Amino acid sequence: MLFDSHTHLNNEDYKEEDVRRIAGEIEKSKVSYVVDVGFDLESSYNALRHAETYPWCYAAVGCHPHEASRMDEDQLIMFRSLAKKDKVRAIGEIGLDYYRNLSPREDQQYWFRRQIKLANELKMPIIIHDRDANQDVLDILKEEGAFSEERCSWFPKRRGPEGTFVKDARVLMHCYSGSRELAQQYVKLGATISLAGPITYKNNRKGLEVAESIPLEFLLVETDAPYLTPEPFRGRRNSSPLVEYTVARLAEIKGISFEEAGKITCENAKVFFDIKL
Ligand SMILES: [Zn+2]
Repeated sequence: MLFDSHTHLNNEDYKEEDVRRIAGEIEKSKVSYVVDVGFDLESSYNALRHAETYPWCYAAVGCHPHEASRMDEDQLIMFRSLAKKDKVRAIGEIGLDYYRNLSPREDQQYWFRRQIKLANELKMPIIIHDRDANQDVLDILKEEGAFSEERCSWFPKRRGPEGTFVKDARVLMHCYSGSRELAQQYVKLGATISLAGPITYKNNRKGLEVAESIPLEFLLVETDAPYLTPEPFRGRRNSSPLVEYTVARLAEIKGISFEEAGKITCENAKVFFDIKL
């Protein structure tokens, strides 16, 4: 039982028959749940449509930093009404991308803040995209109350290592690629770390350190399909069933069985997205 916490069935290049084919592959695979993550208004509508079509699919809605320059107040109103639908379980992906800078930084920061406020208003989980913007992402999350006592009080405490219970801010650092130290800081604040295909890459020392040092209780796995294909399929188009290679690598790093790594990351994700089924 595996949970792909971040996928894009809503990828712009997919036609209806592609989505049906991929859905069929997911149904035949070890994957029991996926979250289809929006990156603009249209893809968020599509994520919801997929979630309402397939029982194993849930949606997140939000404006990606790349799209920030095209965002406006009217769209925010539409995101708000989308977010209230039952199968929408998070606001995302939102954040900052200073690597490609496809939108001006001021626009990225402005809509990042507004969408954190939206998630707080609706008491919803948040999925964060951070590329080469570590410090600003952390500062803005803190300033907008993403880790506040109040926000943490909306969500039950979660199981930490060795039978402890710790606060949960329901903030997911998607496809985490930062340092071990920053990951530890995030976990202390109440965030959750999601690992993707790059932890299967041989030269990825940082990813290895993060996977080694962050307790399994704070980890989810994802594909970010169609991007970031894990080994041994690197170079091909990614899709949710391949999350099993990321789980296998995580199990190897943690010294536990594949089944255990799959089960724990799946349970963590079900708690994060409040999935009872
Ligand atoms: Zn994504």
